[in-house]
Amino acid sequence: MVVLPLERRLNACGAPDAGNIWLIPGGRALPLRRHFFQAVIGVATTLVRRFSWTAARVAFCAAASLAALPAQAAHIVVDTGHTVSRPGATGASGRVEYLYNLDVSNLVAADLRAAGDRVTQVAADGAEVALGQRSRVAPTADLFVSIHHDSMQQKYIDAGRQREFAGFAVFVSERNPKYEQSLRCARAIGEQLVAAGEKPSLYHAEPIAGENRPLLDRRLGVHRFDGLAVLKTAPVPAVLVEVGVIVNPDEERRLARPEVIKRLAQAIANGARDCQQTEPAERR
Ligand SMILES: [Zn+2]
Repeated sequence: MVVLPLERRLNACGAPDAGNIWLIPGGRALPLRRHFFQAVIGVATTLVRRFSWTAARVAFCAAASLAALPAQAAHIVVDTGHTVSRPGATGASGRVEYLYNLDVSNLVAADLRAAGDRVTQVAADGAEVALGQRSRVAPTADLFVSIHHDSMQQKYIDAGRQREFAGFAVFVSERNPKYEQSLRCARAIGEQLVAAGEKPSLYHAEPIAGENRPLLDRRLGVHRFDGLAVLKTAPVPAVLVEVGVIVNPDEERRLARPEVIKRLAQAIANGARDCQQTEPAERR
């Protein structure tokens, strides 16, 4: 969701903007249903002709407010992968994955909130939370996004090949009841990460034991991983993002830089919002 710059807001309560329709109550922009907006414009035009501009504006603003109700800001669950006591992978420096996940997920949540979305954070407070519970924290949310940082097969670590593996990966599960929508969000997040200069890792598609994840989109790093607990148990569209490979010492140093964390988080937040806006009208 985009908040329009001040000069592009209209004095009236609604404004068409570059193909999107926005309602702007109190300075916050919300998407409107286009056909509803057009119907309201039609009624307002009739009122102007028959009565007065003031009557038309009052009717228009009231109707537009009602129209915005079903298209409110998205509700997105941001899940910080792992917990303090089970922190996931260990980076080349010894810093654990949970802390990297926390840095990125806190910024993703902040970016979404700044854009007007409602956010529920899971496991960001350090409390223990079971895998099966995470995805059910907000059963009516529009999207569940789990943030992780990647490792690699132990045999590659043992062979000293850590520097060969880098990049992001995005996962969806076909066992999620909102698979198509999950895939749309996975692609949107992949698209934003690529636009931010990131590259997909692709090694999870390697045809070896422990990997072998079907690659759904090579350019965007989107894979299917049907057995991932948070994805298959989520009653809402769900995506898991491996932001980068912290077992690779070069990549870990890069992923620890505040400006990189900020850029990656913004890309993930943008992708999560993009797939809400491109959702077909009948699903809203
Ligand atoms: Zn993880």
